[in-house]
Amino acid sequence: MIYFEKSQPAPVCLAIEKAKPSSENYKCGTVLQRLNTDFERKCYICESKNITNVNVEHFRPHKGDRNLMFDWNNLFLACQHCNNIKLGNYEDLIDCTNEAANIEGRILLYLEVFPMEVVGVSVFELEMAKETETTVALLHAVYNGTTPLKQIESSNLRNAILEDLLDFETCLERFYDNRGSEKHKKWILGKIKIHLSKSSAFTAFKRQIVRDDANYLADFESFFD
Ligand SMILES: [Zn+2]
Repeated sequence: MIYFEKSQPAPVCLAIEKAKPSSENYKCGTVLQRLNTDFERKCYICESKNITNVNVEHFRPHKGDRNLMFDWNNLFLACQHCNNIKLGNYEDLIDCTNEAANIEGRILLYLEVFPMEVVGVSVFELEMAKETETTVALLHAVYNGTTPLKQIESSNLRNAILEDLLDFETCLERFYDNRGSEKHKKWILGKIKIHLSKSSAFTAFKRQIVRDDANYLADFESFFD
């Protein structure tokens, strides 16, 4: 999970739909386009990019509460896999659209490949806050699966992460390989910059690889947008 800035003000249609007693249309007007742009076409939970099963997710489950149903700040973009796992099961999560909540400074994600391919989730807090605990549980569930069906989906998700991380690691290796020309090095640097931008898939994992190495951090931290 990484920080996303939610554009303001809210699409006007939300207040109009809320005022209609029987309407539950919170996907009105420009809502979908705005969410797609704000969340960089990514699921805010698993960071999959260009998702084919797009869901508009209520960060705080509305349970029929029209204030929460039509609250722009409560509408997030998620993939179906994550939305199905979250449903009403994980309340009180770290809000990744609140910069002050500092999601990237609190939760660390890494992919373990041996002995089993599994996503690890660590925290930087000595005393874990309730919202951190819930967010860790959700991320574990999303990346490693819950039911047998979800385990298959999560395994596909981890394969996508692995492929992306292998490409990123190859770029890092090539950047430090002195045999390449200056032109090639610049091109590789451009690729690294794209990998570390918030619009890339699985950015949290790649930024963690950079944070774990003092040289990488010195050379590439400026690419964290
Ligand atoms: Zn997802």
